[in-house]
Amino acid sequence: MKNALLHICCAVCAAGSIQRLREDGYEVTGFFYNPNIHPEEEYKKRLEAAKGAAKSMGFELIEGHYDKDGWALSVKGLEKEPEGGRRCEVCFKIRLSAAAGLARDKGFGYFATTLSISPYKNTKVINEIGDSLGHGSFLAYDFKKNDGFKRTMDFAKGHNLYRQHYCGCVFSENKNIRSS
Ligand code: SF4
Repeated sequence: MKNALLHICCAVCAAGSIQRLREDGYEVTGFFYNPNIHPEEEYKKRLEAAKGAAKSMGFELIEGHYDKDGWALSVKGLEKEPEGGRRCEVCFKIRLSAAAGLARDKGFGYFATTLSISPYKNTKVINEIGDSLGHGSFLAYDFKKNDGFKRTMDFAKGHNLYRQHYCGCVFSENKNIRSS
């Protein structure tokens, strides 16, 4: 069995991504690392939902550090960027760097991210960042393909998973930028 650490942005996106990885023979451990999420109450809601998905799907979930101040500092000056712009690239990189580091430290052979299951995010950019950090260990999936997005939404509805209405950061909250 191949071990993969999966960066999880939210419970809804986790479901279909984990189904796909399991079908491809990976044993998956989840990593909830999202210092971008604002406000903290929303962070807690998404974390609890991810814990619920971990329980119902039977995978271990590791919670990363909620370094919201560090995240805000990293995107300083990019507040007015449009959806999919440079702020999002920095945001992807922060989360994927943490996943790459943890995968290395804990001896996972591979790491991946749920981010590509969203039709609202640029999979090419996500996977280029992952490849640049992974040195061969990044699994460059496009999880939305082959009905991946539909399957994840079906699972989320069937299990009544919490579904947020904006991507995560304060800027997306104000502009209603969707995540999934
Ligand atoms: S819109 Fe989403 S991906 Fe872009 S910076 Fe905000 S939380 Fe990150």
